[in-house]
Amino acid sequence: MKVAVIGGGWAGIAAAVELTAAGVAATLYEAGRVLGGRARSMTVDGRTLDSGQHIMLGAYRETLALMRRVGADPDKLFDRRPLQVIDPSGFHLALPRLPAPFNVAWGLLISPTVNWREKVTTAWWMEGIKRQGFRLAEDTTVTRWLDSAGQTGTLRHHLWEPLCLAALNTPADRASAQLFANVLRDSLGSSRRADTDLLLPRVALGELLPEPAGRWLLANGADLRLSHRVHQLVPTDNGIEIDGEIFSSAILATAPQHAATLWPASARNYSYEPIATVYLQFGAKTGLSFPLFNLHGKHGQWVVDRGNGLLACVLSGHGQWELLSDEALAAALQAELRMAEPASWHKIIREKRATFSARNGLYRPEHITSHSGIILAGDHTWADYPATLEGAVRSGCRAAHQLLRNRHKPAA
Ligand SMILES: Cc1cc2nc3c(=O)[nH]c(=O)nc-3n(C[C@H](O)[C@H](O)[C@H](O)COP(=O)(O)OP(=O)(O)OC[C@H]3O[C@@H](n4cnc5c(N)ncnc54)[C@H](O)[C@@H]3O)c2cc1C
Repeated sequence: MKVAVIGGGWAGIAAAVELTAAGVAATLYEAGRVLGGRARSMTVDGRTLDSGQHIMLGAYRETLALMRRVGADPDKLFDRRPLQVIDPSGFHLALPRLPAPFNVAWGLLISPTVNWREKVTTAWWMEGIKRQGFRLAEDTTVTRWLDSAGQTGTLRHHLWEPLCLAALNTPADRASAQLFANVLRDSLGSSRRADTDLLLPRVALGELLPEPAGRWLLANGADLRLSHRVHQLVPTDNGIEIDGEIFSSAILATAPQHAATLWPASARNYSYEPIATVYLQFGAKTGLSFPLFNLHGKHGQWVVDRGNGLLACVLSGHGQWELLSDEALAAALQAELRMAEPASWHKIIREKRATFSARNGLYRPEHITSHSGIILAGDHTWADYPATLEGAVRSGCRAAHQLLRNRHKPAA
């Protein structure tokens, strides 16, 4: 069995590792010079920067297992902390190190800026969603869902809406309530306390998975073809022909807009949301009291402390910021941060199609296609989650397992 994996993002990496571990000859094609896709590291002005700030949760089980498999130790590579949400208004929600669900209940109970009435309403609401297994009768927007639950106070403004934008990269007024409920199910609603932990990378994204996985794949006999953009994927009587070479099967693990050019039947009516990262370098002693802070600014939503005075501001989803030049955006974010000193250096990374827009009622494709030798992977195919690393990794593993199951069946 000789399988091609097209796309070396986290989904394609997961698929290639699973296949290689099962003894299958896997060839991983990646258009870029490095693995990682939308979650990769790059060199700018001699510095290693990430394509975007990636915050993970303890609930990202398959990602953590994949890292371990390729020799990357999550215990060393992440700064793991109980969830905290802090913003400039004084809002503060910090989960204690208590077993779930007492950690969330206690965090809510002692939050100084939320009144008693709201604490009680919220506790009842969360209990109710839990009892329904986080399944909504029908999908709606997060805004309408929160309205109908009476979630109209402090927590909506300082917790639910910022969390929705951070997790779904889609503002609450058009985001899918069902997808947001799924995120809550596996984080704040989880029965494992560790699932609610924030995992903040201590190292560049490349070192978390793409680089160790690349080394592992080579050491285990996989064929890694970097800087190779696949132009043709054609089913033939002998197998799947990819740029003139025959494979028994293929996993198409690209973002949806690229998948549609190679396999038009996978095309769906997606819209996309951008993300910008504004890196600002301050003096080495500058830092945040907690490494993730809800900026709640006109443009910036979160700021991440990357150490040595480097702050990374995150701007998620469409907004006025898209009209600003890099210079104007850097100046605007400096003003929002209210630092005493000006930044000595800045760099802005704009990802125009950072993620698909996780709107309510969005139809997501199946991983199985009309051809049993062609399987889809990628964050868009893991319908239970919005665009996330965990969704990408799970989709890659699922695609590999599907092909392994199909191994002895003739191609359709
Ligand atoms: C700025 C930013 C911040 C984010 N923050 C978070 C976060 O905090 N937490 C989180 O969980 N997720 C976050 N995400 C989402 C996460 O990065 C994605 O869900 C995930 O990386 C998608 O992985 P993928 O493998 O499905 O797709 P991709 O990463 O898009 O990988 C597809 C790969 O296919 C390659 N390719 C395309 N066409 C071809 C071709 N024809 N031939 C060969 N190769 C091809 C591409 O070069 C690419 O490397 C963020 C995304 C961005 C952009």
